[in-house]
Amino acid sequence: MNLHEHQAKTLFKSYSLPTSNFFVAEKYEQAKELARKLNVSKWVVKAQVHAGGRGKAGGVEIVDNLDDVEAFAKKWLGKNLITYQTDKEGQPVSSILIEECTEILSEFYLGVVVDRSSKSIVVMASPQGGVNIEEVAEKTPENIYKASVKIDQGPSKDDALSLAKGLNLNKNQTEQFIKIFKNLTKLFIEKDLALVEINPLVIDENQNLKCLDGKISVDSNALFRQEDMKSLRDTSQEELRELKASEWDLNYVSLDGEIGCMVNGAGLAMATMDIIEISGGFPANFLDVGGGVNQKSVAEAFKIILSDDNVKVILINIFGGIVKCDVVAEGIISAVKEVGVNIPIVVRLKGNNADVAQSMLTDSELNIVFDSDLSNAAEKAVELSR
Ligand code: GDP
Ligand code: MN
Repeated sequence: MNLHEHQAKTLFKSYSLPTSNFFVAEKYEQAKELARKLNVSKWVVKAQVHAGGRGKAGGVEIVDNLDDVEAFAKKWLGKNLITYQTDKEGQPVSSILIEECTEILSEFYLGVVVDRSSKSIVVMASPQGGVNIEEVAEKTPENIYKASVKIDQGPSKDDALSLAKGLNLNKNQTEQFIKIFKNLTKLFIEKDLALVEINPLVIDENQNLKCLDGKISVDSNALFRQEDMKSLRDTSQEELRELKASEWDLNYVSLDGEIGCMVNGAGLAMATMDIIEISGGFPANFLDVGGGVNQKSVAEAFKIILSDDNVKVILINIFGGIVKCDVVAEGIISAVKEVGVNIPIVVRLKGNNADVAQSMLTDSELNIVFDSDLSNAAEKAVELSR
């Protein structure tokens, strides 16, 4: 679950991470008054969406009069912002961050992620901030410094020092960085975060460190014990079909191909997408309906897949291990009738009672092609998608 920049910065403040003073406007009529309350003569105004790359897309501006603060808010509130990180529709802007402008002397990158293989969290810092970090990782990986923090041991001063050295900080800034390092990892662990990015972390006009941007992603699996984080969810920023799927506990990710996929098990779902691509087609989605598939979840999955206009054919790939294939076949048949599916469906069922399932599907006289071989089924789906 992603947070907005202003929510991230509020958390930063509560963990003593240095940020600028700011207000959030949800109506453009509030913008001037909030900007005035900051008592400065220069502001940064920023559209709040769950995506980066706003600067280059016009979603961040530096302004030096109240009329321009208002004009920016009026321009963006209620509109969609399209950046290189959004889809072509962009993300809706329903709030604007109004912040005192900082004079920047240097820009750095600071990020924290979970590293499963070493059972630790990894803090990454780079003197090349303010730019696309993926590009730095690709072209000049030696400019990214890393330190891993064991969850049970907490952050060490030596790790903080080694990163501070990589950023070429002076003595005073190094002291500040040690605090940032400590508090950031504390925030990360206490709030069950999956990702934090501060891009840029800057040196300001007073030679002090400051977080000018904040991206936070909370581990959704931990939300049951993070009530205060849960309330920060903004579903208007989420893809509609993914949102619907999450209501039914379906694991769905929207993609841009033509073949809708319905699979049980995440690994099998990924393998299915690979085989579709090998056969020359493109999946419209990732969908894991889970081990306990039933008619209700199959019907909801159909509705979600069919609400994507790009879908020309549906490929169902179920392995009957926990669930029996004939139960799934029954679910498919009644769901197809209930939802009114009018595009071809290719079904591959394997496992418990697959033979019974096959005759049920063949006898159903619905627009269903059955093949127990996954490669053949994928090829048929690709053919039908054309
Ligand atoms: P992003 O493009 O979505 O990552 O949004 P950012 O919050 O990173 O803002 C984009 C860029 O605007 C930053 O990389 C900075 O260079 C610049 N910026 C943001 N805040 C300030 C500020 O207070 N002062 C100045 N001079 N530039 C800023
Ligand atoms: Mn940024």
